Amino acid sequence: MSKAKSPSFVLEPPLVANPHESRVLAVRFEAGRQLYNAVLGEALRRLDLMKESKAWQATRPMPSGAPRSAAQKARAAEFSLIAETMGFTDYDIQSYATRGKNACWIGDHLDAHTTQKIGTRAFKAAQRYQFRIGGRPRFKPKGKALKSLEGKSNATGLRWRDDHLEWNKLKLKALYDQKDPHGVQAFALQSPVKYCRLIRRTILGKTRWFVQLVIAGIPKGKDKNPVRVGQSSVDIGPSTIAVVSETDAFLEKFCAHVPDLQKAIRRIQRAMDRSKRGSNPDNYNKDGTIKKLLPGKRRPWVFTQGYLRLRTRLQEHHRVLAAYRRTEHGHLANRVMAMGHTVMAEKLSYLAFQRRFGKSVRDRAPGEFMGHLRHKAASAGGEVIEFPTRTTKLSQSCQCGAVVKKPLSKRWHTCSCGVYAQRDLYSAYLGLHVRKNGESWMLDTESAREGWCAGEPLLEKTVSGIVQAAKGGPWPASFGIRARDRAALSQNGAGAQEDSGCCSPIAQAIVARAGKTSAAGTRTPRL
Ligand SMILES: [Zn+2]
Repeated sequence: MSKAKSPSFVLEPPLVANPHESRVLAVRFEAGRQLYNAVLGEALRRLDLMKESKAWQATRPMPSGAPRSAAQKARAAEFSLIAETMGFTDYDIQSYATRGKNACWIGDHLDAHTTQKIGTRAFKAAQRYQFRIGGRPRFKPKGKALKSLEGKSNATGLRWRDDHLEWNKLKLKALYDQKDPHGVQAFALQSPVKYCRLIRRTILGKTRWFVQLVIAGIPKGKDKNPVRVGQSSVDIGPSTIAVVSETDAFLEKFCAHVPDLQKAIRRIQRAMDRSKRGSNPDNYNKDGTIKKLLPGKRRPWVFTQGYLRLRTRLQEHHRVLAAYRRTEHGHLANRVMAMGHTVMAEKLSYLAFQRRFGKSVRDRAPGEFMGHLRHKAASAGGEVIEFPTRTTKLSQSCQCGAVVKKPLSKRWHTCSCGVYAQRDLYSAYLGLHVRKNGESWMLDTESAREGWCAGEPLLEKTVSGIVQAAKGGPWPASFGIRARDRAALSQNGAGAQEDSGCCSPIAQAIVARAGKTSAAGTRTPRL
């Protein structure tokens, strides 16, 4: 348990493996897959039995009470007691994995620690299902190998020694970054390794091996990525990210450089489906649905070479997307850190987000980005403070205290008190003024009003920067600088602008520009 709490970071050099070594590794991964399936099956069986048990049924109606109350604790204790007696604990599942490994051929290929980790993995998957965080975990089908195997410590099993990975008589040399311009690698290699994770990736249809060294401590920061000690605030919309600090602000399309591969992916998926139907006509009914199977029967599927080629291409697309996303997340997180290492952000349910906005959100993975940001902030000595939207309602609030619900299509915040700002930037600005009031988080409107004399020109400057940058090109639609806002500008904004005499030149420029173009700013993928 202490492992998870102490800080760590990862260095991932590629490994050199000759065809023989690669084959040995593939066999071990296959052993890992089979063991995982067996253990997962047992974990799910125990979970089902546990839920059906009388003790469980008797405990369920117990009053759950508030979090951390005595009633809730008593109920939780009762549940964990039942889990213990039914053998549904991490420890029990691990020992089941070990027994399974020793009883068959898998014992020749996996070591004790790797086996225990596979047990933990299966147990956690079943537990996620139990707590309804995830769906019922699936078995890993044949031909779909595990992506990684990991050890528990650097003492036995998978272990890192000086410059190579050792694992049951295999010694694999790592490929270092020869340049290492920022000294990040050199620093990492001097720090103690907690444990190793062996990664298998398919790149352009070829299997490549990597080792992830999980290293104790905090990674060395690069000089090109400075960290500002102070506060910043982030607002992530379905397609935008707005970041504001006391002295700086930016607003841009969230992960703008992640290519839009959805069309290409869809095309491959359709081709795969056609191919599958063509080579397995007996598996389909006349109306195109898949035939129901008799219980206990297996369906024979024929996958042609063409189908397998398509599948490789599809995997490659997903890999490329993930790689772009990772890079982009890293860049964005560095920029946020340069603005302030204590980051305020609304606590969003990214799952609900995804349900509402679908694939575009999935490709950009805002939840993953927040995880990235948390890690970076912690390394820099700061933190990410997430506050609930329920009490703060930043997207609806104004610094005068008014709370007005606005539809997502309305991209500008206008208020009778005279405040006029781009919606995402403004709610990020308000995030800087959220304070903890006893148990709940509240927007400190007074502080927001005081800060506005500096905040207003800052947000204006940011928007005018976008206007300048976008001249001659298409407007980024999600920023809300488009024809639809024209009406809102002239109706609500005009009066307020005359009073304060502030954002009128920019607003006019925006209106003039919005009248000319309405196209959305989407990038065409290049691959
Ligand atoms: Zn107001």
